[in-house]
Amino acid sequence: MSLEFVYSEKGKRKFIDSGHLFVKDAATEEKTFWKCDQYQNLVCRARLHTRHDKIVKRVGEHNHAGNAARVEVVKVVNQMKNDARETQDVPQRIITNSFIGLSQAASGLMPNISTLKKTIRNTRRLADRAPPNPNSLVDLVIPNDYQITHHDDQFLMFDSNDGWHRAFSELIGASHPTVWKFISSLKDEQALNEGKIEQYVAGANPPPSKK
Ligand SMILES: [Zn+2]
Repeated sequence: MSLEFVYSEKGKRKFIDSGHLFVKDAATEEKTFWKCDQYQNLVCRARLHTRHDKIVKRVGEHNHAGNAARVEVVKVVNQMKNDARETQDVPQRIITNSFIGLSQAASGLMPNISTLKKTIRNTRRLADRAPPNPNSLVDLVIPNDYQITHHDDQFLMFDSNDGWHRAFSELIGASHPTVWKFISSLKDEQALNEGKIEQYVAGANPPPSKK
């Protein structure tokens, strides 16, 4: 079973494991090390190691129960932000949709409507901050923010790493209204695939090539 990820308020990737959320602690060429996101609040010592997006080791126990409703809320708010970026729906509609199918426990933990509306407006404001679309390649100057990943690592380097360059060829075929939206979607894709990319960049054996 592959891991399921969500994004925190600050855009950090978290992964979901039995009602718990884990954040990245460190990574080597081989493995990624995760800590329970309650490591500070509750001084929880639970840790996980993953390799190729599979859990290979569990270290320590949680000192608190898993909370499926909390995970549900984080997932729903993530979905709401996606909808805010990718649809023209009015905030009330996005919010109404997000409550459909939500468990009672999760509904009780959801932020209030005015907070959710503010979240939607802020998400849209950030998404709209893209520079104007360039008229030609000569005009294309890529702002720094578009050259780094959600984790502030340099990622836009088309001259190397054809490992992941190749992996994104599908995206290049997709239609994107603006080059900025295109690069933003690359960033999203990169974040989702970060585990794999780290391995390629570190020189680990890539999966069999179609060449
Ligand atoms: Zn924990």
